[in-house]
Amino acid sequence: MSGTALFPSQRSFRFYPTPTGAQAVLALPIELDPGTVNLEVRVPGRQDPLVATVEIVDPHFPETKLSVEPKFIAPSAAHKKQMEEDQAAFREAFSRPFEPPLFTAAFAPPREAKVTGQFGERRTFNGKKQSQHYGTDLAGATGEPIRATNDGVVALVRDCFASGKSIAIAHGGGLFSVYFHMSGFDVRPGDHVVRGQVIGKVGATGRVTGPHLHFGIKVIDIYVDPDSVYRLAFSAPFGATTSGTAP
Ligand SMILES: [Zn+2]
Repeated sequence: MSGTALFPSQRSFRFYPTPTGAQAVLALPIELDPGTVNLEVRVPGRQDPLVATVEIVDPHFPETKLSVEPKFIAPSAAHKKQMEEDQAAFREAFSRPFEPPLFTAAFAPPREAKVTGQFGERRTFNGKKQSQHYGTDLAGATGEPIRATNDGVVALVRDCFASGKSIAIAHGGGLFSVYFHMSGFDVRPGDHVVRGQVIGKVGATGRVTGPHLHFGIKVIDIYVDPDSVYRLAFSAPFGATTSGTAP
C-alpha cells in the first residue's frame, strides 16, 4: 500500500500496518501557498487509487527580529566547512531505511516549559539575514533536563556550529526529533531511549541569543510543527512495514 501527494512536485508517503488497518504520516512543506493538495493512495487488489483533497490554509506565521554574534551572519570559510560537515552528519542520521514506529504512545514535549519561539516564525537576524523557524523554542536555564519526546534510537550526537550540541532521535514511521543548543549529553549514538528519558541538558551552544532548547520534529525530510504531532493518535502495536512506495 502506498500513497502520493500531488502538488507541483510529487511526494510519496509510506504506510505501516496497525491492528485495524494501516496508517501513514504525511507532512507538507511550510513554504506551501494556501490552496489544495490532492492525495492518491494505491491499495493492493484495487484498480483505482483512493483519492482525497487536503486544504492548505494560511497559518499567519509571526515575524520576529533577533540579534546574534556576527560570525553566524557572515561565517568564515572554516565555519562554512564545519556547517557543511554538520549538514552531512544530519543527512546521514536521517537516511535510515523506513521502519515501523518504535513507539506506542503519543509524542510529548521534551520539557514542560514556556514556548519562547514558535514554529514557522519568520526571523530577521541582525537586521538582514532572514529565515523561517523549523522548530519550537522552549525556555530553560543551562543544566536543566531535556527528555526524549518518544521511544526511539539515538541517530546523532554532535557538536555543531549553528545548532550547537545537538541530538537526533529516530522514532520509526518516518519520524525524527531533534534537540539543539544543549550544554551536555546523557546518551550516545545507537542508544535506545524511552519517552520521558533524560537525554541531555539545556544550554546556549551554537547560534543563540541565550540558553533555551530548540526542539524539532521531522516527518521523512520535512520539519513540522511539534504541536501538530503531539495531537496525533497512533494505534499501536505496529506490524512489519508494508512493501512498495509511490514513484
Ligand atoms: Zn529555535
